[in-house]
Amino acid sequence: MAINDAGERLKALDARHHLHPFTDFKQLGEQGSRIITGASGVYIHDADGQRILDGMAGLWCVNLGYDQPELVAAASQQMTQLPYYNTFFKTAHPPAIELAAELCRLAPEHINHVFFTGSGSEANDSMLRMVRRFWALKGKPEKQWIIARENGYHGSTVAGMSLGGMAPMHAQGGPCVPGITHIRQPYWFAEGRGKGSESPESDTHSRDDFGRLCAEALDARIQELGPDNVAAFLAEPVQGAGGAIMPPDSYWPAIKAVLAKYDILLVVDEVICGFGRLGEWFGSQHYDLKPDLMPIAKGLSSGYLPIGGVLVGDRVADTLIEEGGEFFHGFTYSGHPVCAAVALKTLEIMQREDIVTRVRDDLGPYLASRWATLADHPLVGEARSLGLMGALELVADKASGERFATSLAVGNLCRDICFETGLVMRSVGDTMIISPPLVITHEQIDALVSLARAALDETA
Ligand code: PLP
Repeated sequence: MAINDAGERLKALDARHHLHPFTDFKQLGEQGSRIITGASGVYIHDADGQRILDGMAGLWCVNLGYDQPELVAAASQQMTQLPYYNTFFKTAHPPAIELAAELCRLAPEHINHVFFTGSGSEANDSMLRMVRRFWALKGKPEKQWIIARENGYHGSTVAGMSLGGMAPMHAQGGPCVPGITHIRQPYWFAEGRGKGSESPESDTHSRDDFGRLCAEALDARIQELGPDNVAAFLAEPVQGAGGAIMPPDSYWPAIKAVLAKYDILLVVDEVICGFGRLGEWFGSQHYDLKPDLMPIAKGLSSGYLPIGGVLVGDRVADTLIEEGGEFFHGFTYSGHPVCAAVALKTLEIMQREDIVTRVRDDLGPYLASRWATLADHPLVGEARSLGLMGALELVADKASGERFATSLAVGNLCRDICFETGLVMRSVGDTMIISPPLVITHEQIDALVSLARAALDETA
């Protein structure tokens, strides 16, 4: 069968039987999927033989790119040795043990334990149960509320979507988990720009005012709920799925100051920002945060196999261990040996190749310099990046910064043009996002930026 025929057959089967995540099933059934059949380096390949630069590292996860034979060998070796065993009922196996130890060695000093899960959503579910259990053990069972943020993303399980601040998710599938509330996000371009106390001479001043304003919203919510009823504040270092939103410089210091006033845990969701994306092992380190818990996933195995976990700081871990008795929680695939072996090898390659430092000192600054050149495009209201994560804000009027009507779906148009012309760039409304593999080269960054500019030209 010719490649194209095989592709058409798969498309038809896909439309007939396959319900895709975050997809309008009917619309996809009518339009059909693009079938991805292979990948190498930072490129994916479709059934028609087209090569597409993967500006999103899959779903923010394929940090080491698509052809790492050592990851394949690690999986194969572990499959042969011990394809599965669980970590329940007083058993363990070498990959889970070694991975736990290595993660704790790489994590900030006060973090010495990890609970494994199969995904980032499960990591956030587990975190929620640990946080509430912690306070119950401390004799403060009324400390139940979790404060998270509007437009944050923490997964698709019931707890994950409840923790997330995505209104369309809350609207489907029944009630959210009780005891979770959301405050405003530090999204200057969408919510701070041109509003509040703006200084005519400096953008930075107004951004910083906005960052502090968002932190005041945390203080206000804590006071509203009563500090004795609040268990934790949950946030991503940089909101990923919400739109690659880097907070103003003032934001995290102001949040830290608020939390320091109250006895409330800090949970930093590192599912995207962990493992080098922002040029540090963890995004928390970029912002000088000391989280009590950190959900992790994605880059942990470079996306080659599903694995996640919660890194648990000493304060919480000591209480759960010393005072908790049995924790009635866990997954069949918690610490799956093959996934753990691949994660361990991922961490080994990252250290051997010094990937985190390379993102911080070389690739991140290079992307920043190239990405910033897109700011002169008539459609672009802001071009921002940090490490290997970037965003473009599309605007209808460059002078005023006015946005397009949502109904025009300009971001989706730009995304589709990119995909047709050989670049995966994601759209969140009219915000275009990139998060390429951490092994991308300067030349490939140049190619990415050229493809993005050409797509902007065609969109305009
Ligand atoms: N947390 C964050 C910050 C994420 O971006 C995601 C996924 O995109 C999740 C949690 C959920 O992870 P998973 O899709 O592995 O369940």
